Amino acid sequence: MAAARNATMKAMEESGIEAPAWTAERAAEVVQRPDCDYRLFFESNPVAMWAFDRRTLRFLTVNQAALRQYGYSESEFLGMTIADIRPEEMLPDLYMDLARRRHGLQYPSLWKHRRKDGTIIDVEIVCHDVQMQGTEAMLVAAHDVTERQRAQEAARQAEEKYHAIFDNAVIGIFQHAPDGRPISINRAFAQMHGYASAEELLAEITNAGAQLFVHPERMVELAEAAAAGGIVRCAEVELYRKDRSRFWVMVNLRAVRDETGKVVLFEGTAEDITHRKAAEAQVSFLAYHDALTGLPNRVLFRDRLETALAGARRRNERLAVLFLDLDRFKNINDSLGHSFGDRMLKVVAERLRECVREQDTVARVGGDEFLIMLGGVSDAAGPMAAAQHIMSAMAKTFVVHGRTLNTSCSIGISVFPEHGEDGETLIKNADAAMYSAKEDGSSRVRLFASEMNSRAVARLTLESDLRAALDAKEFFLVYQPLMEIASGRITGMEALIRWQHPTKGVVPPGNFIPIAESSGLILPIGEWVLRSACSQMREWQNGGHRIAPVSVNVSALQFRREGFCSLIRKVLAESSLQGRCLELELTESLLLSNADVVHPILAELKGMGVSLAIDDFGTGYSSLSYLKQFRVDKLKIDRSFIRDIATSDDDGAIAAAIISLGRSLNLRVVAEGVEGEAQMSFLRERGCDEIQGYLFSKPLAVSAMEKLLDEAEADGISRRCGCIDPPFSTEQIIRS
Ligand code: C2E
Ligand code: MG
Ligand code: MG
Repeated sequence: MAAARNATMKAMEESGIEAPAWTAERAAEVVQRPDCDYRLFFESNPVAMWAFDRRTLRFLTVNQAALRQYGYSESEFLGMTIADIRPEEMLPDLYMDLARRRHGLQYPSLWKHRRKDGTIIDVEIVCHDVQMQGTEAMLVAAHDVTERQRAQEAARQAEEKYHAIFDNAVIGIFQHAPDGRPISINRAFAQMHGYASAEELLAEITNAGAQLFVHPERMVELAEAAAAGGIVRCAEVELYRKDRSRFWVMVNLRAVRDETGKVVLFEGTAEDITHRKAAEAQVSFLAYHDALTGLPNRVLFRDRLETALAGARRRNERLAVLFLDLDRFKNINDSLGHSFGDRMLKVVAERLRECVREQDTVARVGGDEFLIMLGGVSDAAGPMAAAQHIMSAMAKTFVVHGRTLNTSCSIGISVFPEHGEDGETLIKNADAAMYSAKEDGSSRVRLFASEMNSRAVARLTLESDLRAALDAKEFFLVYQPLMEIASGRITGMEALIRWQHPTKGVVPPGNFIPIAESSGLILPIGEWVLRSACSQMREWQNGGHRIAPVSVNVSALQFRREGFCSLIRKVLAESSLQGRCLELELTESLLLSNADVVHPILAELKGMGVSLAIDDFGTGYSSLSYLKQFRVDKLKIDRSFIRDIATSDDDGAIAAAIISLGRSLNLRVVAEGVEGEAQMSFLRERGCDEIQGYLFSKPLAVSAMEKLLDEAEADGISRRCGCIDPPFSTEQIIRS
């Protein structure tokens, strides 16, 4: 009612109409003619009314509603002024208002009044000046609007709260029209799109689907789902930012309808899930890729291979699988550390990627094993050429952590459909071909042939035979003497194991030591070698031979095994041998793998008088200066460097450098695998101390060795080089 009255008053003022005169007259009548209807109108009016003397502010008359509203009796009212129903702090406002002395109907105004019980109420006052009993009075209607005010305040607070939530929400909140026009959005929504404010976005975007969605049809799909089901929850959507970069949000969407059921707008929330999406992508990437190199892993490779095979079958095409394994990578890892090895694998991965076409797949499937799939192959020549190309890429010098290094790889190839109809068989056969390449001396490419599978089976059989070999006493030792170049004297002998296989004849160590190492059998076998060599030494000494130490090869696994020193001590004691009668041959990679562990063991062995040699020197990538730290006695230059010393400048230079390094570090240098006079004179000229090789003697069975020792002692130990014809070749050796 008050609002309607307000509106009327406002309209009157705007149209220039003054409050009609009858209003004042009627009001006067109300008060002055108690007997007329107007008096009744005043008395029983549900709105509290009174008149007061404008000069004294005293109440002149009050109606029933006023008595109820304020809690005073009529006589109490008539003894008060209008100031008495005001809270004290409002009095200055009251006096200022009265001082304005306006005439006619006044605009409604809001005041706070105090009731008799002290409670404060909100009232809307409408008043009019009147003449009453000759006094200037003011007729007042005071409508209690406390409840309305409270409701308005609550609504205002709710509105404020909603705005605070809307504006400060961390998730985006939006409303858009069915045609995609944004109607209202909060700051978070604008910011996630790269706009500084909601206003900026609203000014620029007229169609969210077309301008913000990476796939506009997705917006149509969501709107249809919300319209059909009322609500869409947790939908993932890819959107554009202002700068056209993409991001992901999770949307909840609701269709809002009018009373006729027509959808008038959509509203919802949008949460930025870009980080979560990135994490998910990372997880799924890792499930299908190798974390180190970023290449596909075996799972993804298999998947792509199956898809490619299906295509190849349809189109009647060929397809090749290459299995690549780096040569001697374990040595690199062991001697130069895993971080070096990792870096190297990354470079290998990059080179492989560069070698193949876009449509081919390169995968890392194990430590240093890679699979490559080549599609659109017409015959075996294509993959062979590709493999050769890869081999030359791998042969280029690697520079890792400022160090230069050369390596090579072995590659096996299988071709669909000749070497297998399905992915698993193709991979297995490429693996067998790779293995065969390794067996043939590494750094080779081999195309699969069916007999390779039988070789793989043979390898497995060998492992199970090896388990029984120790108990069956199938192992025996041969001894290869070492000769001092300057004097021609025998300066020692190396114990080398042989396996007398029940059906295969004598198996050379190169064929079973790697299997023994990977299966752990090297531990009992190594212990047996050590015991046998030491007890043989005791026998020879008992027989009166004054011979130099026997060298025993030690595998990394044995050396690292706890109690290795105790074992040496025990075996020496069992055979009553002095430590100086035993030499242990260790590899470079074994020494460098863990210097902290290695040092104390070496010190303990030295303490027993045992001498130490580094075997196969030059193949382990160790820095030469490293050697100083280890208290070794001997360097044995690997056979691969000696083979061509007389003819290859490189090998000659390496061998010469190792000899001079050894001398400068006060180590004895032995050349392994010396077979000819040319090598011998090269070594003599460079000052190499000793040789071990067929030129002097092949490895000998015990009896042959005894014979050699007898002769040497009879000759006063001055034997010519190359004078011993080996009694039999390694393959012909029978157990002595
Ligand atoms: P290695 O310790 O470097 O032994 C030297 C190898 O070179 C021996 O091969 C020997 O027969 C061969 N050799 C010596 N002179 C010549 C030569 O003039 N020309 C050629 N072509 N070869 C020559 P073998 O006996 O076949 O042993 C191969 C490897 O097997 C050894 O290399 C050693 O690493 C390992 N091995 C042998 N016996 C044992 C053992 O008891 N324990 C362990 N852990 N490894 C052993
Ligand atoms: Mg050796
Ligand atoms: Mg060697």
